[in-house]
Amino acid sequence: MTSVAEVPHSAAAGGRAFIVQRDGDTAVVWFDLPNEKVNKFSTPVLHELSSVVDELASASELRSVIFASRKSGIFIAGADVTEFTTVAGPEQARAYVELGQQVFTKVANLPQTTVAAIDGACLGGGCELALSCDWRVMTDSPRSQIGLPEVKLGIFPAWGGTSKLPRLIGLPAALDIVLNGRTLDAKRAKRTGLVDEVVERGILLDTARKFAARGKRKRGSGRTKFYIEGNPLARNVIFGKARKAVLAQTRGQYPAPLKAIEVMEYAMANGVARGMQREAEEAAKLVSNDVAQNLVRLFFLMESSKKDPLAAKPADVSYVGVLGAGVMGGGIAQLVADKTDADVRMRDIAWKAIGGGMKAAAKIWKKKVERRRMTRGEMQRKLARITATTDWSGFSRADVVIEAVVENLNIKRQVLAEFEAVEKPGAIFATNTSTIPITQIAAEAKHPENVVGMHFFNPVDRMPLVEVIRGEKTSDAAMVTVANLARKMGKTVVYCNDGPGFVVNRILGPYMNESGFLIEEGNSIESLDKAMVDFGMPMGPMALLDEVGIDVAAKVAGILSEAFGARMEKSGVVEKLYADGRYGKKNGKGLYLYEHGKRTKPDASVYKLLGIRAPHPADEKAVVERMLLAMINEASLILDEKIVATAAELDLAMIMGTGFPPFRGGLLRYADSLGLPYVLARLDELSSRVGPRFAPNAPLKRLAERDGKFHQAYARS
Ligand code: NAD
Repeated sequence: MTSVAEVPHSAAAGGRAFIVQRDGDTAVVWFDLPNEKVNKFSTPVLHELSSVVDELASASELRSVIFASRKSGIFIAGADVTEFTTVAGPEQARAYVELGQQVFTKVANLPQTTVAAIDGACLGGGCELALSCDWRVMTDSPRSQIGLPEVKLGIFPAWGGTSKLPRLIGLPAALDIVLNGRTLDAKRAKRTGLVDEVVERGILLDTARKFAARGKRKRGSGRTKFYIEGNPLARNVIFGKARKAVLAQTRGQYPAPLKAIEVMEYAMANGVARGMQREAEEAAKLVSNDVAQNLVRLFFLMESSKKDPLAAKPADVSYVGVLGAGVMGGGIAQLVADKTDADVRMRDIAWKAIGGGMKAAAKIWKKKVERRRMTRGEMQRKLARITATTDWSGFSRADVVIEAVVENLNIKRQVLAEFEAVEKPGAIFATNTSTIPITQIAAEAKHPENVVGMHFFNPVDRMPLVEVIRGEKTSDAAMVTVANLARKMGKTVVYCNDGPGFVVNRILGPYMNESGFLIEEGNSIESLDKAMVDFGMPMGPMALLDEVGIDVAAKVAGILSEAFGARMEKSGVVEKLYADGRYGKKNGKGLYLYEHGKRTKPDASVYKLLGIRAPHPADEKAVVERMLLAMINEASLILDEKIVATAAELDLAMIMGTGFPPFRGGLLRYADSLGLPYVLARLDELSSRVGPRFAPNAPLKRLAERDGKFHQAYARS
């Protein structure tokens, strides 16, 4: 830059967020929120930006204004979500939305040519600021992402995004981004027309200046023509399809995408200014409703789960061993090679299994190549980072070994002993057991402090949770190292203490058992599944059983019932299916029929096998109550035994590990919303009418008797 004058502007809390740097007839507005890793828009920050823009508007010597960020990897993350939790009601929410709109309208009305110079994440409000500029230039950094993820928080883009985006990139592409909360990397953003140019970081500002020199963008050109001025009938068809797709995906349980469609339709017909009024009106109502509040809480929970509560420092992990190349081992090896810098060494006792594991890993990458999310070359390089063996060669280099051999205590102890014979000092043994207490696996270990649970869910590449489990002697260092590795693999970590089934599988125990009893009572397979899907679960318990594998479920159910006795009383369903050679999807034989690996319809012969004469549709309300209360009752014990520290973490584990409906806020948030005295009364009734397995557990009883709430009684102090 030639003549540089840095002019700090008015103050946001904690210091100035914007620095205006003038260079000839160009001003660069640098966003650098003090004391924060990311730039975000809070009320004070918006006020500060507003006065910055006012001054620029009257600076007649300026011809162009460039917006840029001084944060690494972040342009602007969006609105400051903490403000959503403090809004008192729709009126206050509306004032906040309108403030953002006013500031961005001022940006759009600046007399100078405006350019957003984007390096790093440009999300939500950040994207809407960029949309208010004439031009958008973005770096090709892998951290550069642009999009509108608002629906994930139960709202929709209301600082102009919903009204403006279709005009820039066309209706179908805009609907895809807004309704799915999608973010695009630089290449895809350029392809859709969301950004004008993609460049290396080193020439970002120079390129922004070149765009500024082009002058203001002509409005209403390009893709807008067809959709805005085009045939309203065609628009109706597109909106109709979008509405249908949203309803199929959300079953109407998430109001935000439906409202977004409504607003978009209105803005298309009535113009951006009126569209934005409608945005403010409708978004303000959404912010304070339960769905948005639950989704915002979930957002914060996920954020806080990224910060480790333990003070120990994670060790560097550059070499990972994986034991067992089965369903889980193959997926784990793939994810380590895909998401981290570590090399992977996979061991199985059979070459055939190794072949299967490698194939499974390659299949996941192939899908990415097909979707143009990675190149064939990248895939080959990643695949080459996984090597395999049937002996222990290479394992003395491993910093962490993830054990995923069969669920059998003796075999797990044996592989642990074999690993300890070759390991380097301090190497960590992380077991992916689904049910066996870590303390039992480590009982004969030379270094039990290095043995820890690292429980993934199936399928590994898609399920976002990892339970990191502390055995009696597990060190903090082992906990944080494994948690850190899991986070690098893109997972959400929940710390657990030891016990059979840990958190998620232990809660699923009574849930799956109850579904078995309900089938034995004659409820039809499809109606049972429908009841739970209508409640919001991603699939019903019968489909889940097939998906997980009836063989796996039989083993888990056996271990849990041995550990917990009457509370985990089993129905006869799983054992009978297992004995009949039905393992579910994996062998195409389960509760459902399969065609080319795809579930089609319930297998009627199951009823005969189970001795059920006339299956009937379930009473959905009664089914949901029994399934949910069975879980809530067990969850109260898990909290009382401190298997997990807080109700919030238990909820997070259930959402991430089972797909428990996020809009309900989690299992215990749901219980709290029912009211615990009511939960207690229903459990008492079910216990006397249906069976003693519903007898309310003591911690739940105590809490209900004082009209308490899980989320208050079990919160971090
Ligand atoms: P799997 O049967 O698909 O694979 C186990 C593999 O371990 C087989 O390939 C077998 O040959 C191999 N093996 C056996 N003994 C071995 C040894 N001594 N050394 C190396 N390899 C050995 O089983 P899976 O479903 O992948 O489960 C593995 C572990 O993950 C189990 O502890 C299971 O409880 C747990 N788990 C499974 C799931 C699931 O849904 N499948 C989910 C979470 C956790």
